[in-house]
Amino acid sequence: TARLKQGLSKSRDKLGKSLAGVFGGAQIDEDLYEELEDVLLTSDMGVAATEHLLKEVRERVSLKGLKDPQELREALKDALVELIEPLQQPLEIPADAKPFVIMMTGVNGAGKTTSIGKLATHYQRQDKSVLLAAGDTFRAAAREQLIEWGARNNVTVISQATGDSAAVCFDAMHAAQARGTDIVLADTAGRLPTQLHLMEEIKKVKRVMQKSMDTAPHEIILVLDANIGQNAINQVIAFDDALGLTGLILTKLDGTAKGGVIAALAKTRPIPIRFIGVGEGIEDLRPFNARDYAEALLG
Ligand code: GDP
Repeated sequence: TARLKQGLSKSRDKLGKSLAGVFGGAQIDEDLYEELEDVLLTSDMGVAATEHLLKEVRERVSLKGLKDPQELREALKDALVELIEPLQQPLEIPADAKPFVIMMTGVNGAGKTTSIGKLATHYQRQDKSVLLAAGDTFRAAAREQLIEWGARNNVTVISQATGDSAAVCFDAMHAAQARGTDIVLADTAGRLPTQLHLMEEIKKVKRVMQKSMDTAPHEIILVLDANIGQNAINQVIAFDDALGLTGLILTKLDGTAKGGVIAALAKTRPIPIRFIGVGEGIEDLRPFNARDYAEALLG
């Protein structure tokens, strides 16, 4: 958790300092609750999660007869853990789904390609065979990046010089089935939820995958840059409505003070957070753990 704490230091610095102010008073009163509300709202938790946490803290105060404002920190932490714990569902790869197909989506720059590299390494280290589908066919550079990365790390990359994303993914799945590969990681082009034709295109990619294997894609992950804060909610809703997301990866938590957004996600569209990114290194993509996260965020 030391690494996670370091990663979330920006969020904690901001939130922690403000909370120290709120909990530094002499008594638990309405003024305190109002200040707490303001602090939570400015940490990107959003209205629904903030209201929820306040109610939970009040309940804990009356249930346990708390008098000392300092005790609220633990009460808040416990309430936050309870709220975000449903999102803690690590990605399981069942042995009978072979290949296990993971489709990655998201806007440009969210961290899809980087996360694919990290995941490929993560699974290789568990002795699983991995194949990458260079499905970002809009940017030649993205394809090149994946091919180069695959060559350096001894991972097969399926790509096409011409052809659309669906065709590349279809090819990759056939190659994986023929070789008995354990996991397919499919990259796709970055897109905004407002680019309706591109949202139709990614639905087609999913349909084509289903045609080549009924149970695929087994996992549809939206990669989100934590820096976008509350906008993450709209993105999750739009991609989930279009594709039926099964998981999220929240990246760049190391560079932002918007770590509270996870509470907002839990309250509005509770899709499992499979991994969080807290840096650029391979080790910096880690499974989401609610307790560790709350500790790292609230101190
Ligand atoms: P894509 O367009 O979605 O494929 O995004 P990329 O994978 O190319 O990532 C965009 C940038 O974000 C790159 O410079 C990555 O190194 C960086 N990045 C991705 N994940 C993280 C993270 O968790 N922390 C930090 N600090 N940078 C990240």
